[in-house]
Amino acid sequence: MKTDEADHPYGRSVARLIEEFNRLPGIGKKSAERLANHILACSAADANALADAIRDVKTSVKRCSICFNLTEDEVCGLCSNDRRDPQVVCVVEQPRDVVALESSGAFTGRYHVLGGRIAPLEGIGPENLTINQLVKRVRRDGVKELVMATNPTLEGDGTALFITNLLENDDVRITRLARGIASGSVLEFANREMLADALRGRQSF
Ligand SMILES: [Zn+2]
Repeated sequence: MKTDEADHPYGRSVARLIEEFNRLPGIGKKSAERLANHILACSAADANALADAIRDVKTSVKRCSICFNLTEDEVCGLCSNDRRDPQVVCVVEQPRDVVALESSGAFTGRYHVLGGRIAPLEGIGPENLTINQLVKRVRRDGVKELVMATNPTLEGDGTALFITNLLENDDVRITRLARGIASGSVLEFANREMLADALRGRQSF
């Protein structure tokens, strides 16, 4: 029996490319076709540059051994920057949250990327995140303040509370971003000024 791909009027290869684009977030069937047509029309060099960039990012990008942010080195640029305070650590869910907070320019400490949030319904528990590593880091480096910047959602708040409870008897001040950011929204879409205000106005958890 023929597959849908083989039935495609453009043939198997083009159908496959459309399929792959279609699997990307926010790319529907029509956009996937438009992108495939763009690849068909552009030079072999341009098309290969795109393919190489995708291959390269998958082989050279890894997690920082300290904060779990994305990096091409053993330790990321933020962790190896002496001008950033190692005793103030901002806890976020994803590397893209680091990008958002950095764009505010209002934070001079370091980060810790959890790799998500505790979500029992999706089978994501504390052991699936970098929470143990965070606790160890706080104790090893004598961290004085943890700024909880998980998303202001039920699960993000729950994750922050879980970490706060773990560190209850440790000598670390735990703060959270001020609530300029609407509850239920996600950090990565908050604007720069809003994030800067939220960082400056952080309060005890
Ligand atoms: Zn790092």
